Amino acid sequence: MATERTFSILKPDATARNLTGAVNAVIEEAGLRIVAQRRIRMSDAQAKKFYEVHAERPFYGELVEFMTSGPVVVQVLEGENAVAKYREVMGATNPAQAAEGTIRQKFAKSVGENTVHGSDSLENAGIEIKQFFDEKDIVG
Ligand code: ADP
Ligand code: MG
Repeated sequence: MATERTFSILKPDATARNLTGAVNAVIEEAGLRIVAQRRIRMSDAQAKKFYEVHAERPFYGELVEFMTSGPVVVQVLEGENAVAKYREVMGATNPAQAAEGTIRQKFAKSVGENTVHGSDSLENAGIEIKQFFDEKDIVG
């Protein structure tokens, strides 16, 4: 195992319910370190680009609308095996299928409004981090 970085977003349903600290507590308890964090409003262009792999999916429009509907917190997480570890901590996309104790099981409202994003591969983590952070703003 190696130390990795992954990209995380606390989505608008999390910020709307003041869950930033509660979600961060789960992240930190899992041994992941928050090495960069910023609260932003995602622009329409940013959200469309970020989720462009889903452009042909029926929920793409709804997803872009949701991600721009309120503030989000973008983060870089660091730790052993961080990409797979965070996917495990997040739980399944659909909260009804998310394992006990995962962020989505605890907090997600629905398959769309599911509280967090986490990169699905080390390669995508690198690409996603670059979309929102300068290397100098990541303090490991
Ligand atoms: P994950 O975020 O677990 O990697 P996907 O990459 O499949 O999941 O989907 C990206 C995001 O699109 C999900 O986190 C969720 O917000 C939204 N989404 C996925 N499937 C649906 C769906 N069936 N209906 C509405 N929104 C969805
Ligand atoms: Mg995904």
